[in-house]
Amino acid sequence: MSKSKFGTNTICTHVGEVLDEQFKGTVSPIYMSTAYAFDEVDIKRYPRYFNTPNQEQLAKKIAALEHTEAALIFGSGMAAISTMFLAFLQKGDHVVVQNTIYGGTNNFIKEELPKYGIEYTFTNGYEVSEFETVIQSNTKLIHIETPSNPLLTITDLRAIAKLAKSKGIITTIDNTFASPINQNPIDFGIDVVMHSATKYLGGHSDILAGVVTSSNENMEKIWQVGRNLGGNLSDFMVWMLERSMKTLALRVKAQTRNAKRLAKYLNRHEDVKCVYYPGLKSHPQYELAKSQMKGFGAMLSFELADGLDALAFLKELKLIKSAMSLAGVESTMVSPYLTSHALLTQEERDVIGISDRLIRFSVGIENKKDLISDIEQAILKVKTSKLKLH
Ligand SMILES: *Cc1c(COP(=O)(O)O)cnc(C)c1O
Repeated sequence: MSKSKFGTNTICTHVGEVLDEQFKGTVSPIYMSTAYAFDEVDIKRYPRYFNTPNQEQLAKKIAALEHTEAALIFGSGMAAISTMFLAFLQKGDHVVVQNTIYGGTNNFIKEELPKYGIEYTFTNGYEVSEFETVIQSNTKLIHIETPSNPLLTITDLRAIAKLAKSKGIITTIDNTFASPINQNPIDFGIDVVMHSATKYLGGHSDILAGVVTSSNENMEKIWQVGRNLGGNLSDFMVWMLERSMKTLALRVKAQTRNAKRLAKYLNRHEDVKCVYYPGLKSHPQYELAKSQMKGFGAMLSFELADGLDALAFLKELKLIKSAMSLAGVESTMVSPYLTSHALLTQEERDVIGISDRLIRFSVGIENKKDLISDIEQAILKVKTSKLKLH
C-alpha cells in the first residue's frame, strides 16, 4: 500500500501530468508515436507495451487514487477484467466468483474460462460464508463486486481479504460502482482493483476504457499477459481520460450527495415500494457500507408501487435519460428486468429480487429539484393514464 502526499482533488488535477518541456503548455501533450528511439532508454516504448508517455503517466494518477504502486490502462473494462483473470489463472485452477457481478464478466467467465481449462463456481450470495463453502483446494482467485448491480448489496472487504489470505488465494474486485473516490479496497486487504473507466473515471459517457491497479509485483504479471493480449487504450483516448479524471472527485462527490438526497426522497414517496441505497439507515448493510466506503456512491435502485408500470414510467421521463450505461454527469434510469437481467428466467430473477417494477438510477450532477420534478411528473402521468384505462 502506498499513499500520495497530495489530497484527492490535487491527485485528480496534477498527478501523472505529461510535462510539455518544449512549449511549456499547461496541459499534457499527446504522444501518438508508435515508434520510439531505441538508444536513449533501456525500455522499448510501444503502445501495446502500455509504456508510452501518456499511458505511463496516467497510470500514476490511478495508482495514487487507489493507494497502489502501479496501474495499467486498457481499451475497455472487459479487456481489463479478462487480462486480470488470465494473469493469475492457469489450466487446472479454480476461481470463486460473487454471483451478483456485471453481466459481461459473467459471460467471460462462463464462455471463455472453460476453454483454458479453468474451473469456476458462483457463490449463492455475498455473505463471507457463501464464499468459504465453495473454496476448493485448487482455488486461486476470489472475484467480488461491491456495491453490486442492481440491488447495491455490500460485500465485506475485510472479511473476504482475511479469508483469502488464510488460504493463499488472491482477491480481485470490480470497484466500478464505488469509484476510487468512495472506496479504496486495497486499504482493507484486497489485492487487485479494476474499474470500467467507461463509467465514473470517464464520467461523460464518451470514453470506453478500463484500468487495473495493484502492487508492482502483481502488475508485472498482468503486464506480461496484457502485452500478449493487446488490449491497451489508444494514446488519444488516454489523454481524454486524463482530462476527464481532473474533475473525478468533484463530479463523484456531487453525484453522491445528490444520490443520498434522491434516495431519501424516493424512500418517503407513496408510489415507491422500496429503495436500495447503502447510504439509507434502512439498508441492511448500512453499518458495513459505512465502515468500508468513504461515500455511499451515486447508484441506487427503487421499486415502483404495485400496479405502476416501469416501462411506462421510463417513457414519460423528460430530463432523466433512459439508458443502459451509467455514471455519467447526466442522470440515467434503466429497467434491469427489461435489459441486463432480461435473459434470466422469472424464477432466477425472483431469487435475486429483481422485480418488473425495479428501476436502476444512476444519479448525475443536475439540480435535485429538477430531478424530483421529472420523477413527479412521470409518476403522475403513469397514474393518470392508468385511471383513464379503467
Ligand atoms: C460497464 C461495466 C463493466 C464493463 O466495462 P466496459 O468498459 O463496458 O468493458 C464492468 N464492470 C462493471 C461494474 C460495469 O459497470
